[in-house]
Amino acid sequence: MSKYSEASSTAPQGLNIIIVGGGIAGLAAARTLRERHNVTVLEQWGMKSETGAAIHTGPNASKLVLKWGVDLSESPHFKVVREHTGKGKKVMEQRLDPAAMWGAPWLLNHRVTLHKQLLANATADDGTVPGKAPKILLGKKVVRANVDDTSVTLDDGTVLKADILIAADGIRSVIQREVIGDTLVAKPSGHSAYRCLIPGEPIKADPEWSYLFDTSGCNIFLAEDRRVVAYTCAYQGRDYINIVAACPDKSLSEGVDSKESWSERGSVAELVKTFSDFSPAIQRLLSYSEECGLWQLRDQDPLKNWHKNQTVLIGDAAHPMLPHLGQGGSQAIEDADMLGYLFKDVDSTASHSLIEKRLQKFFELRWPRATFCQENSRSQALGVRENDAELGVPILNPLKTAHYLYTYEDGETWAAQQAEVGKAKNESMLDAVDRSITVPPQVAQATAPQVATI
Ligand SMILES: Cc1cc2nc3c(=O)[nH]c(=O)nc-3n(C[C@H](O)[C@H](O)[C@H](O)COP(=O)(O)OP(=O)(O)OC[C@H]3O[C@@H](n4cnc5c(N)ncnc54)[C@H](O)[C@@H]3O)c2cc1C
Repeated sequence: MSKYSEASSTAPQGLNIIIVGGGIAGLAAARTLRERHNVTVLEQWGMKSETGAAIHTGPNASKLVLKWGVDLSESPHFKVVREHTGKGKKVMEQRLDPAAMWGAPWLLNHRVTLHKQLLANATADDGTVPGKAPKILLGKKVVRANVDDTSVTLDDGTVLKADILIAADGIRSVIQREVIGDTLVAKPSGHSAYRCLIPGEPIKADPEWSYLFDTSGCNIFLAEDRRVVAYTCAYQGRDYINIVAACPDKSLSEGVDSKESWSERGSVAELVKTFSDFSPAIQRLLSYSEECGLWQLRDQDPLKNWHKNQTVLIGDAAHPMLPHLGQGGSQAIEDADMLGYLFKDVDSTASHSLIEKRLQKFFELRWPRATFCQENSRSQALGVRENDAELGVPILNPLKTAHYLYTYEDGETWAAQQAEVGKAKNESMLDAVDRSITVPPQVAQATAPQVATI
C-alpha cells in the first residue's frame, strides 16, 4: 500500500483541481491528476502557442511520458554527441545508448509534437488513459489568484474556485507573487539564444552537413563565449534541424529588449553576423534558416517555497532555469508525475490540512532535483551562484550530473529513496547526492563528457 494512504480511499469523488496554463507542466499535470480527480485547465491562448522549435526530453522525462502512453514515435533518438570547435575541427564523437544506460530513450522532439501529444494523451476519452478527460478551456486569461479561498479571477471578471489551484503559468507567472508574497522577476543572465528550425532538404543536399541526419544526436560547435547546438527532430513526416545559438548579449548585432520581453523574432542575417568568427560551413548552416527567434536567457534564484494554503507552483512558475542542461520541460514533467503520485489516494473528503501536507511533501521531494537543475544549468553558463553553499546544491561533473538526472524512475520511487536517505544517514538529500552517486563503469565509458545541450 502507498505510504500516502492515510486519506480515505472509499469516497468516490475526486478533488476539483484548476490548473492555470496549458504548457508542458499544465498538460502533464492534467494527465497525471485526471486519474483520480476532476481537472480543469485554463489557458490564455489557443493551443497553438508552442514555439516552432525543438525540445528534448531526457531519459528521466521520456521514461514518464512513455509510461503515460504519450506517442512520441516520430521523435528521433539521441544516439551520438559530436563536439567541434567554432572553426569546425572535430574534438570528439561519442555514441550513446540512453535506453541501455538509463532505462529510456533520450528523445529529440519537435515542440509542437510534444505539446500535441501531451494534449492528446491528457484528454484521451477512448479508455486508453485512466480517469476522466480534463476540461481544457482556451482563451481564459487569469489575472488574479486568491490563495485564501483557492480561486482565480479571469480577465472577464469570472471567478472560479477549486480544492487545489496549480499554477503552471510559466516564467511570468501571475500566481507566483500570491504564493511567495513577493514579485520576483527573472533577471537577464547576460546571454541570449537564437533558435531556428531548418527544414531538412537543403541540409541533406549539402555534402558538408548531410551527416547530421546519418545518426541522430547532438552536434555542438564551441567557441570561448558562444556555442551553436544542432540536432534533428521531425514533424508530420518532415525532418528538421533545430539550432540553438547562444552568445553573450553584448556580442549580439541586434538589440534585445531587456526590460519587457525575452522572446522575440530575430534576424537570420544578424544571427550569421553574430557567429562570423565561426567557420564558413557553420555560417552557411545558420543561413539555411528562413526565420529565427531570439530569446534572452533569464535566471532566477531558487524559491524558498512553492505553495501557500492549497495553491502550488509547478514548472517554470516554480523553478525557471537557464536552458543549458535542457531540463526545464523535463523537470516540469517530473513535477506532474510527483503530484499524481501524492494525490492518487486523496479524495473530496480530505481536509485542507491534509491537502497542504501533501503540497508541502511535494515541495520537499521536488525542490532538491529542480534546484539542482537550476544551479547546475547556471554554473555551466555563469558560474556558481554566490549563495550556493548556503543552498547546499552540489555542482557535479557532467558524468555524475547525467547519471543523477537520468536514472530517475518516478515520483513514488524517488519518495521511497529519499525516505531511506534521510533515515540512514541523517543528512539532507542534497548532501547525499554527490556522495551517493557512483557511475557504473559501462556508463562512464559510454557517456559523453559534455552534457550541455544548448
Ligand atoms: C532556448 C531554450 C531551450 C530549451 N530547451 C529545452 C530542452 O531541450 N528540454 C527541456 O526539457 N526544456 C528546455 N527548455 C525549457 C522549457 O522550454 C521550459 O522549462 C518549459 O517549456 C516550461 O513549461 P511550463 O509549462 O512550465 O511553462 P510554459 O511553457 O511557459 O507554459 C505556460 C503556459 O501558461 C499559459 N499562461 C501564462 N499565463 C497565463 C495566465 N495568466 N492565464 C492563463 N494561462 C496562462 C501560457 O500561455 C503557456 O501556455 C528550453 C528553454 C529555452 C529558453
